[in-house]
Amino acid sequence: STESNPIRATLFPGDGIGPEIAESVKQVFRAADVPIEWEEHYVGKEIDPRTQSFLTWESLESVRRNKVGLKGPMATPIGKGHRSLNLTLRKELNLYANVRPCYSLPGYKTRYDDVDLVTIRENTEGEYSGLEHQVVRGVVESLKIITRQASLRVAEYAFHYAMAHGRERVSAIHKANIMQKTDGLFLKCCREVAEKYPEITYEEVVIDNCCMMLVKNPALFDVLVMPNLYGDIISDLCAGLIGGLGLTPSCNIGEGGIALAEAVHGSAPDIAGKNMANPTALLLSSVTMLRHLELHDKADRIQEAILKTIAEGKYRTGDLGGTSTTTEFTKAICDKL
Ligand code: NAD
Repeated sequence: STESNPIRATLFPGDGIGPEIAESVKQVFRAADVPIEWEEHYVGKEIDPRTQSFLTWESLESVRRNKVGLKGPMATPIGKGHRSLNLTLRKELNLYANVRPCYSLPGYKTRYDDVDLVTIRENTEGEYSGLEHQVVRGVVESLKIITRQASLRVAEYAFHYAMAHGRERVSAIHKANIMQKTDGLFLKCCREVAEKYPEITYEEVVIDNCCMMLVKNPALFDVLVMPNLYGDIISDLCAGLIGGLGLTPSCNIGEGGIALAEAVHGSAPDIAGKNMANPTALLLSSVTMLRHLELHDKADRIQEAILKTIAEGKYRTGDLGGTSTTTEFTKAICDKL
């Protein structure tokens, strides 16, 4: 039974409000009887030479072994000669796709009430390859790298995701009319993968037009897949459509089926330790983790309890205009479960 064989998952509570909102996830999982046993890992106090960062080798090994994890926000300690925590995670675990489901929260009013889309961002190359140099004085060059391998990999994931989540359409976002070679190759790879999924409608949308359509009528979109830079911008735009980064979950997909879910916001040092943080983004991220594990029942129940609590409006944290503490809001969710 799942009771005697719990699934092990890595938990990085992180810094600042991280431990408070991670505690909230642990309580909610307990209330919903989720068969997960957390393996907690903390950011080290010293640089681990094996990772060249404050993240320990053991913590990375834990994610590799468990293949699933949840990460709170991490504030990169100041110092020279080490890699940032997020970069270390991305490189070491080869996190190639960033997935952000964006849906309107009932009862939390924004300009739109019918957003239900997912952005899938290629996370390893494109303009973020870090290849910039000066050619001559006054002229610099930045290389945008697009490879067939990384494009196929993220396209495969997007279509797989669409199928697994009952989605109907995948839109590839591009600027291939100008970036003919790079975005052209990205689109070619998306088309190849699309052919293997005749059940899913495939379309291509130019990035500028996509932005206009998103702000005019976000309900037009279902699953969007795109290269790194476009994904960085569009995913934040979409977070804005539903009320901001404090509510948006995300999940990083890595080589070998690794899924590392994380809230998009930072460690909020201004409210850390004050029992004021809104745990919604991390909770909804933990729901994406459960979906990755195909624990859809548990995911549905927890998501519903969170959304109902916010919709009722009796218990809301300060950032949503309420007066509840993190613990009160968490308790309200647990009571629903
Ligand atoms: P931030 O997201 O931590 O804070 C911005 C504002 O939003 C603050 O006023 C904060 O109180 C509020 N806020 C954020 N999350 C909230 C929540 N869950 N509930 C209520 N209010 C919330 O951004 P920042 O101040 O730019 O960054 C602070 C630290 O976090 C930095 O050290 C930065 O490097 C780090 N950071 C980490 C990640 C990550 O680990 N993924 C992402 C962004 C920033």
